Amino acid sequence: MDTTSLKNDAKKYLMNTYGERDICIIRGSGARVWDSDGREYLDFLSGISVNNLGHCPPFVVQAAKDQCESLIHCSNLYLIKPQIELAKKLVEFSFADKCFFANSGTEAIEGAIKLARLYSRSKYGANRFEIISMKQSFHGRTMGSASATGQKKIQDGFEPMLEGFVFAEFNDIDSVKRLVNEKTCAVIVEPVQGEGGVIPATPEFLRDLRALCDEKDLVLIFDEIQCGLGRTGTNFACEYYKVVPDVMTLAKSLGGGFPIGALLARAPFSEVFSPGKHAHTFGGNPVACAAALAFTTELFDKNVSKNAAEMGKHLMSGLKNLSRKFGFIKEIRGVGLMIGVVLDRPCKEINKRCMENGLLANCTCENVVRILPPLIINRDDCDKALQVLEKVFSLES
Ligand SMILES: *Cc1c(COP(=O)(O)O)cnc(C)c1O
Repeated sequence: MDTTSLKNDAKKYLMNTYGERDICIIRGSGARVWDSDGREYLDFLSGISVNNLGHCPPFVVQAAKDQCESLIHCSNLYLIKPQIELAKKLVEFSFADKCFFANSGTEAIEGAIKLARLYSRSKYGANRFEIISMKQSFHGRTMGSASATGQKKIQDGFEPMLEGFVFAEFNDIDSVKRLVNEKTCAVIVEPVQGEGGVIPATPEFLRDLRALCDEKDLVLIFDEIQCGLGRTGTNFACEYYKVVPDVMTLAKSLGGGFPIGALLARAPFSEVFSPGKHAHTFGGNPVACAAALAFTTELFDKNVSKNAAEMGKHLMSGLKNLSRKFGFIKEIRGVGLMIGVVLDRPCKEINKRCMENGLLANCTCENVVRILPPLIINRDDCDKALQVLEKVFSLES
């Protein structure tokens, strides 16, 4: 089937949630993908920080295949071996004591909201349920996580939102302190805001949040769904910032491409749930967990995040050179391989031209080119991407 008929059928049979899409990707390997017309692309978006170890990593493929041949699904009514092994792996390599598994990022956030409220209620009663989130944050699209999201456009049309969320200025501890009252139970923050325009937290802000949460016994939740799992050049963004949260959400790249989300917590927060309080039919599914175990084993044991840190530096300096050449580049910001190129103009067309030139990136917040290469990227491919960007940028001005 050619791309034009695919486009027509997509229009006819799929709900119109993603807008028009120009290409159909049918194959991927490492940092490259191919479309249904046989064109090759260098993937500097990684499915929005999902394919952190590249496309179809052989160890993930093998683990998923093997698991499919023995057991695809049973139920959380029974012990699930790869789920237990994955939890052990995540606990060994993080601050957390225990895990809960969901199927997606938004579900991990829902779990975090429920955990925070339950923790607070059991200690302080039903009137303590308010969660402080940040403006421009993004936490997902279900009603709870959309309510936690600090962007009007995500909530628009779905009101009333879930009660009990208030929004502070990101990187402004005083604005957080002003919102704390007897109803406050938690603070949720992305260490590096993703959808909000690739904005890193300042180290002081996260340290001050930690101190505030300690002082007031608030649950500090780090949403590392986009910035976690090697992206920042460390296994977790909290390690980059050297600030330990109470709860952390993961998803996106956790399954090496398979859908899975996770809620990690340290004691006593890890002991909040009791049987019947929270569950998902597919949460911790054997295949997703086997894939995630293979993914995390490679990521942690081979210290892949080190390459992300090095390549991030290389890309960042190449981009800074470009910003000196093109006046419409206002800022280059980010951490590790999570980079935003802030323009003084919309980047939709620029992004499209990158694609036509064989480079996949993304445009967020209208004017931020978002770059999220796989963490296994090498210097050559970084230089190729920089060349495409230079070519596309020179068509502007
Ligand atoms: C993508 C994302 C989510 C939502 O994850 P889904 O799997 O799309 O539900 C939540 N928080 C952050 C920071 C994200 O980047």
